Amino acid sequence: MSAAGPRRVAVIGGGWAGLAAAVECVGRRCAVTLFEMADRLGGRARTVQAGTALLDNGQHILIGAYAQTLALMRRVGVDPHRVLLRLPLQLVDAQGRGLALKGNPPWLAFARAVLRHPDWPLIQRLRLLRAAGSWTLRSFHCDAAATVSELAGHLGHDVRTQLIEPLCVAALNTPVAQASAAVFLRVLRDALFSAPGSADLLLPRVPLSDLVPEPARQWLEAHGADVLSGQRVQAIEPIDGGWRIIAAGVDDYDAVVLACSANEAARLVESINPAWANAARALRFEPIATVYVEATGARLQGPMTLLHADEGHAPAQFMFDHGQTHGAYGRLALVASGASRWVARGVPALQEAAIEQAAHALGAPARCELRPLRTLVEKRATFLCTPGLHRPAAQVAAHLWAAGDFISGPYPATLEGAVRSGVAAGNAAALAG
Ligand SMILES: Cc1cc2nc3c(=O)[nH]c(=O)nc-3n(C[C@H](O)[C@H](O)[C@H](O)COP(=O)(O)OP(=O)(O)OC[C@H]3O[C@@H](n4cnc5c(N)ncnc54)[C@H](O)[C@@H]3O)c2cc1C
Repeated sequence: MSAAGPRRVAVIGGGWAGLAAAVECVGRRCAVTLFEMADRLGGRARTVQAGTALLDNGQHILIGAYAQTLALMRRVGVDPHRVLLRLPLQLVDAQGRGLALKGNPPWLAFARAVLRHPDWPLIQRLRLLRAAGSWTLRSFHCDAAATVSELAGHLGHDVRTQLIEPLCVAALNTPVAQASAAVFLRVLRDALFSAPGSADLLLPRVPLSDLVPEPARQWLEAHGADVLSGQRVQAIEPIDGGWRIIAAGVDDYDAVVLACSANEAARLVESINPAWANAARALRFEPIATVYVEATGARLQGPMTLLHADEGHAPAQFMFDHGQTHGAYGRLALVASGASRWVARGVPALQEAAIEQAAHALGAPARCELRPLRTLVEKRATFLCTPGLHRPAAQVAAHLWAAGDFISGPYPATLEGAVRSGVAAGNAAALAG
């Protein structure tokens, strides 16, 4: 706290990174104002009204390794056990065949699941275990210039198409031929080979906005913060010892956390730190499409099903049964990550192909009628996570910090990456200096 009162911090952006930063600053007794240009908080991980249904902007999954995200939920009064369905990691198809991890410790669970895989030839299973052993011996480090295709090129076709490709595109939203092997290995290490439960899938049982955004808003307001939605920050200007924010009004702050999209952040700091703005602008993005389908009477063998995706006919890698997660019986969500080529073909083609996949996976299209509910495409869903990518740093200038899933860090663009960076930036902004 300065002599004149609590340190004043402005947070620009009410996605999960901005909310994490704001909560952190309030926890450190700062006077916080959060600016969000949309009417709703949550950014890319928000809930939208689609007709009479509340749908998430995209189906999201969390995993047990999301320690800081789970801590943020608890901090704002949300019990993760109530809002998330926890399951051991399963990459199984509609017939229930595939890789299913059970028990602990993680390494043993992985080795058992690989050895018991019902379809992979023994040679492929052994090769995968040998590769996992050698990644472990090298502490999951590899050549920074390598792609996931290069890392996994020697593994068998089934292991590549049924494990490496879906995991890579789910975690990095980047096709294996372009994806950074170093980041992929880091994700594998933290998810599959670290603490017990870290690989567990945590599937939302409630709308995304009820996981963090709305509880965080209530928590922030109850702790005296100003949460201003529908207010776009137009500009930031340096003033003596701090920053002036120009939005609907004009106000001065001791420190600022920029937690908006990469492009908006670049625009706002263009004249403050041109090199930082260039790094943010240089990022390339990849779409994700979620096709929501009404399938009266349908029930999948589990809440999450692995689909066989291919460039020609099948866009979606995963299908979710919202009857088993949200109690919305008959609602399915099909997720197509790394979807740039499909998006280029147009939403009708993508939607039709995804529905065809759902019908095929359900096995008896006549038994239930499949009806498209809504297809949501986020064109700039996440940055393309390529080898040697230069991501913008967390500090932009004195008392000016950046947060977001694209900020330099070990993780790809994920909720956990966003929250971690928000917590770090909030901490830094709350401290004088
Ligand atoms: C379809 C889809 C599926 C995904 N699936 C998963 C998943 O399964 N698991 C996972 O971990 N991650 C997933 N992600 C990634 C995850 O959603 C993001 O990593 C995370 O939401 C990023 O949060 P953020 O706060 O960094 O950015 P954002 O959510 O983009 O938040 C930035 C906020 O800043 C606001 N803003 C921008 N400019 C201004 C301005 N000038 N003034 C005021 N406000 C401004 C925006 O409106 C926005 O609310 C998915 C993303 C998408 C799109």
